[in-house]
Amino acid sequence: MNRLKTNRWDFGYTLETMNREARKRNAPVFRFEDAGKASPFRILVSTMLSARTKDETTIQIVKELFRTVGSPRDVLRLNEKQIEKILYGIGFYRLKAKYLKQMAEKLINEFNGKVPDTIDALLSLPGVGRKTANIVLARAFGKNTIGVDVHVHRIANRLGLVKTKRPEDTEQKLVKIVQQRFKRNFNRTFVAYGQTICIPRKPKCDECKIRKICKYGQTMINQYH
Ligand code: SF4
Repeated sequence: MNRLKTNRWDFGYTLETMNREARKRNAPVFRFEDAGKASPFRILVSTMLSARTKDETTIQIVKELFRTVGSPRDVLRLNEKQIEKILYGIGFYRLKAKYLKQMAEKLINEFNGKVPDTIDALLSLPGVGRKTANIVLARAFGKNTIGVDVHVHRIANRLGLVKTKRPEDTEQKLVKIVQQRFKRNFNRTFVAYGQTICIPRKPKCDECKIRKICKYGQTMINQYH
């Protein structure tokens, strides 16, 4: 069935299918959310730490960190070396330990110890880029934003939703074409699908239930038939 209706993508069908298939395969992002769940601070920290690190590794380390750290004040009780020791194994762990410390200081000094809920305020925090800020806004505050990471960028291009080189451009295009109600869970669903089926190398197009609406998937069929 053609799910493209007069140039409007059927996001309801697409996201629901992707989510269901990724859940069947126990995508790490779902477990990662459990590990970082609860407070905006934990969501912020776990998202910031996850950059350039395998989710399996981040899950373990975030759990360990949250045994002793639940607020910015807890972070300030540790020195940088102690934080580095906990974060060891995560990509750029030294830099992230430094950012975590600076972030905690800024949250306490400028935001009354609370995670802010605007994009500009989040972007002012050390170690926080657009991807992290948008994910925090969506997951911690229920805002209709789309965090574009490598998974979202790759899959959106493969599907043919966008044709972009940079994640920033992907975000700009997606926010225009994705209806408000689908934005909040967009990142999570795409990440889950990217971890299990539309993986970076050799996507599993044979198993993919949205192949009929995927530009890349259709190209593959035409090449081999
Ligand atoms: S058909 Fe292949 S490239 Fe397209 S979304 Fe599915 S797995 Fe990804």
